[in-house]
Amino acid sequence: MHNTVENLLKINENVKAKFERIGNLSKLPKIIAVSKTFKIEHILPVINYGHLHYGENKVQEAVEKWTSIKNENKKINLHLIGRLQTNKVKAAIKLFDYIHSLDSKKLADKIYNIQNELKIRTKQFIQVNIGNEHQKSGISINEVSNFYTYCKNLNLDIVGLMCIPPFNEDTTKHFKTMSSLNKELNLRELSMGMSSDYLNAIENNATFVRIGSSIFGQRS
Ligand SMILES: *Cc1c(COP(=O)(O)O)cnc(C)c1O
Repeated sequence: MHNTVENLLKINENVKAKFERIGNLSKLPKIIAVSKTFKIEHILPVINYGHLHYGENKVQEAVEKWTSIKNENKKINLHLIGRLQTNKVKAAIKLFDYIHSLDSKKLADKIYNIQNELKIRTKQFIQVNIGNEHQKSGISINEVSNFYTYCKNLNLDIVGLMCIPPFNEDTTKHFKTMSSLNKELNLRELSMGMSSDYLNAIENNATFVRIGSSIFGQRS
């Protein structure tokens, strides 16, 4: 069996074991296999194995890698986990099933317009700047509720919140804050946790974990 598939199976087992141990989650968290920077040949064994959720962080790269595969396999779900510029919204809405990086009113307005034009309603996560970091995008914690209302008024399909916690910090406290924010807003999905901390994220109610290097190896 191919290495990447073995890696995925192992992570799958870990997720299931964690899920069963916690017992307070209503559904099994989903693994987004983050395939950014990897060539499609490297991803194919995982696709052929039947995994359905993939994450990319650049629209153009994703269009090139995934357009024909998605046409052949309608069950595949593609997640945009990187920043979305307004001039790429149309291409993104056409290709991606989920956008995890909704982070400004300007972007929300643009998505609203493009979705009306294309008659598509993509599922979206509001990205929260959970560590209040200058260099990171995302809505600050005390503005999330207002921003959510703004998006609802545009009839966007907001399914949950997403975060990328600060590096070199214990992510637990950030995951806990995310979990309670998600509950306050009554949202059903929560996107958090990467290779290094996905079990911790699941313990704090993540429904989607985004895992790259533990499946596909180190990125160059
Ligand atoms: C690259 C990336 C991941 C995956 O990170 P790994 O540490 O390789 O698992 C998850 N989320 C986002 C937003 C990313 O950009």
